[in-house]
Amino acid sequence: MFQIEENVSLAQFTTFGVGGPARYFCEPKNREDVTYAYTFAKEKRIPVFILGAGSNLLVSDDGYAGLVIKPAFAGVSIREENDAAVSVYIGAGEMWDRFVSWAVEHNCAGIECLSGIPGTVGGFIFENAGAYRQNCSDYIVTIDAFDTKEGTWRTFSKDESDFSYHMSFFKKNAGHYCIVGARLDLPRSGTVRTRCMYKDNKFDFSKLFPETEPMPSLVEMREAILRVRGDKGMLIMDGFESFKSAGSFFGLPPVSREKFLEIEQTVNTIDKKKTLELSPWYWEQNDGTIKIAPAFLLEFTEFVKGYRRGNVGISPKHSLAVINYGGTAYEIKNLAENMQAKVFELFGVHLVPEVTYVGFPA
Ligand SMILES: Cc1cc2nc3c(=O)[nH]c(=O)nc-3n(C[C@H](O)[C@H](O)[C@H](O)COP(=O)(O)OP(=O)(O)OC[C@H]3O[C@@H](n4cnc5c(N)ncnc54)[C@H](O)[C@@H]3O)c2cc1C
Repeated sequence: MFQIEENVSLAQFTTFGVGGPARYFCEPKNREDVTYAYTFAKEKRIPVFILGAGSNLLVSDDGYAGLVIKPAFAGVSIREENDAAVSVYIGAGEMWDRFVSWAVEHNCAGIECLSGIPGTVGGFIFENAGAYRQNCSDYIVTIDAFDTKEGTWRTFSKDESDFSYHMSFFKKNAGHYCIVGARLDLPRSGTVRTRCMYKDNKFDFSKLFPETEPMPSLVEMREAILRVRGDKGMLIMDGFESFKSAGSFFGLPPVSREKFLEIEQTVNTIDKKKTLELSPWYWEQNDGTIKIAPAFLLEFTEFVKGYRRGNVGISPKHSLAVINYGGTAYEIKNLAENMQAKVFELFGVHLVPEVTYVGFPA
């Protein structure tokens, strides 16, 4: 029977492993449960927070003084298939990586580069999570969600979902819609369909799979991505060294050419050798702006890989990943704010948290 529990620790549901209790907590498995949970919160006049796998959150040590709803809609099912494509329906509570593994096994292409990212299908759609030039939204056809304000059910088309880089209609209207499932049409292929043009100092598709060789199979691509993510310490999986983090803590919006030249001069003055060693660290955008790797900027501060302060620190493998070694949410937040302040002081740019803060005073 569906139950709403009281005072449930949220630390167990976040990849940081921190977070105080939720005043109320539930895991709805069907539409009736979701409707019931929202009616409960409305009657009690308490706020609601929707939780996925807690892999992009920092939950306060004081917890959340409302109802936390963790959609537990499970299952991956084939709705239609032909020689060219497979139409799949997935519950929002499924772990995304389990779905990728399923897709790879079933010769469904297009999401293999999204291997090894923690998170639920609901969280992925909300964030439009992406990596190595693939995005969660690429093959989405429709999304089912509960409209928490109207108390009605809606099916959104991909256009209505307004996806862009790490953004969706659902994220723009956070808290308004509780996603319960989605349909994706994946192209049928046992091999990778397009060569991945993304390149950084740990990933270069043309070195991993030279053009003279046939395209890699989906399994080979998934394994390569898992290895690279493991090398970056960005994998929470048995058999790999894992850290308590929320992945990349910060993003950095593209900067103007003038700002880029200023930053280039600063880093070359501080340590030209390091600048060369860490290349490529910037990417020109079609609109003339320049995207700079935030991890690169941090490498010119004291907040470098392996930095440690008490029970929190920075991953020894990636300077964008803040790590919890047994500390508190307060300590993590404090370190993140110091990192932002230092980058602003040195380069005059604002690192923007990609992680959502939950339960902290506004
Ligand atoms: C080691 C590591 C590596 C990572 N690498 C990447 C990466 O390469 N690329 C990337 O994009 N991200 C990455 N992330 C971040 C994270 O995995 C993604 O943002 C993921 O999509 C979050 O999913 P989640 O289920 O954990 O959502 P949560 O963290 O639980 O929630 C995130 C947001 O989504 C909302 N939400 C969750 N479920 C629903 C739902 N059903 N309906 C409505 N709203 C919902 C929440 O309210 C919250 O605002 C990484 C994280 C870690 C820990």
